[in-house]
Amino acid sequence: MLNEDQCRRRGIMFVLSSPSGAGKTTITRRLLESDAGLEMSVSMTTRPKRSDEIDGRDYHFAEESRFRKMIENGEFLEYAKVFGHWYGTPREPVEDAMTEGRDVVFDIDWQGRGQLAEAMPNEVVQVFILPPTWEELEQRLRRRAQDLDDVVAARMAKANDEMSHFVDYDYVVINSSLDEAVNRVQSILVAERQRRERQTGLEEFVAGLRRE
Ligand code: 5GP
Repeated sequence: MLNEDQCRRRGIMFVLSSPSGAGKTTITRRLLESDAGLEMSVSMTTRPKRSDEIDGRDYHFAEESRFRKMIENGEFLEYAKVFGHWYGTPREPVEDAMTEGRDVVFDIDWQGRGQLAEAMPNEVVQVFILPPTWEELEQRLRRRAQDLDDVVAARMAKANDEMSHFVDYDYVVINSSLDEAVNRVQSILVAERQRRERQTGLEEFVAGLRRE
């Protein structure tokens, strides 16, 4: 007989978006560290590899000709051209994870979210992270990058636009305290795993549970 942990289910595509500086990357890292059932989606890109990046961990780096061929073959769940380079989410690893009941985290912006939600509407769970205040976001950007004033101003302008997209998300978490925000995002994941539609092994489980 199946027990609760062995009950089959579909995986979740867990999309986390936020303006830069709101804490998305830190929250994602904490989630991955604390949850063995979770993995990160590795995008493919045509942009050159940076010195601190590892092929296959940070991105799959590819020539433009290969990327175009994959677009033609429908091998991406979503793709976009950003700052002159192509970026995309390869379809196969995500579909395999869904079938095998593994959950995948996507660190993508609101544009990628829209395409993913269209491609896999039943699998996508979308969380938007907001900073507590405008001043706090500015301070975080300054602390992090030690950037020049105009770089910080440009990022704040971008954040201002990005924040308006919160309306498209299923959940919104305001990151006033990092521990509390991580807690809330973990709770969303735990609750979404219990959704009846995802638990494809329930009929078998309940059949084993009941007595005539
Ligand atoms: P970077 O080159 O700095 O790593 O990323 C540049 C931009 O590309 C970021 O805004 C990032 O969100 C976006 N990006 C990274 N991977 C993907 C992807 O798979 N799909 C889409 N649509 N955008 C991506």
